[in-house]
Amino acid sequence: MKKNLATIVSGESDQNALLGMQDKEREAQTRSVYEHTRGREHRSDAVLRSSSSIWTDSAFPYHIIDLTHTLDEKISSWTGTCGFHQEVKLDYDLTTSDVSFRVQQLKMHAGIGTHIDAPAHCSRGKATVEQLDLNNLIAPCVMIDVSAQAHESYTLSLDDLALFEKKEGMIAPNSFVLIRTGWDQFWNQPERYHNNYRFPSVSKEAADFLIQRKAVGLGIDTLSPDRPESGYPVHAAFLGSEKYIVENVANSISLPPTGSFILALPIKTLHGTEAPMRLVGLLPM
Ligand SMILES: [Zn+2]
Repeated sequence: MKKNLATIVSGESDQNALLGMQDKEREAQTRSVYEHTRGREHRSDAVLRSSSSIWTDSAFPYHIIDLTHTLDEKISSWTGTCGFHQEVKLDYDLTTSDVSFRVQQLKMHAGIGTHIDAPAHCSRGKATVEQLDLNNLIAPCVMIDVSAQAHESYTLSLDDLALFEKKEGMIAPNSFVLIRTGWDQFWNQPERYHNNYRFPSVSKEAADFLIQRKAVGLGIDTLSPDRPESGYPVHAAFLGSEKYIVENVANSISLPPTGSFILALPIKTLHGTEAPMRLVGLLPM
């Protein structure tokens, strides 16, 4: 097997596939991830070890993990009504040119599926989607797994974070913190997933603690880190501190507690307060 292959872990199938890329393209991609890695003050030894070998061969040194749900008309949305429409405007057999086309139009809520909340989602004048700094959207990732104890009214507590740090060490500054509750097991049952706004969430105290730890963003595998009855303190704290939130994360089970990276890439909409995105994890080989 050639060395310049990356392993793809899909959020939908969990099957491994291999992706071939042109050597030059791969090298450029590898170089930019490496340079980005070098620019970070805090990174794990595992990542450093992995990065140090990049120049001796052209292998992309990360497993690529898809953390994004697929958008379709049946998925759960915040309001419970259908938030995603994909319409065919022109179909292959109706095309008049020699080459046939299928042309589609999308109509959806901005906050649909796996998506980002920009700081402007909660307050006028704060950063909108297109203003988010890529340096914060590409970041080391910390995955905190509370799925063993989470339930529909579970709230991530300070104790959960203390326990995590006792086992895994202090959450490094500039990390993206992903809370895994296991709720994504209900993604394909939209009503169960929505559950009349009852799903695992995050406490204000835990959010404040993560902000003290200088997290760049917060992700969760539910509709929101806040249940409506709480008054949205996690949104207020994170977005109010010019940080971002990612909701409806898929497949976080594939990430280790520390040592991975996140690529949180929303579509770039002018004045966007929320946006659908492709969320990808990079796991050093
Ligand atoms: Zn939100």
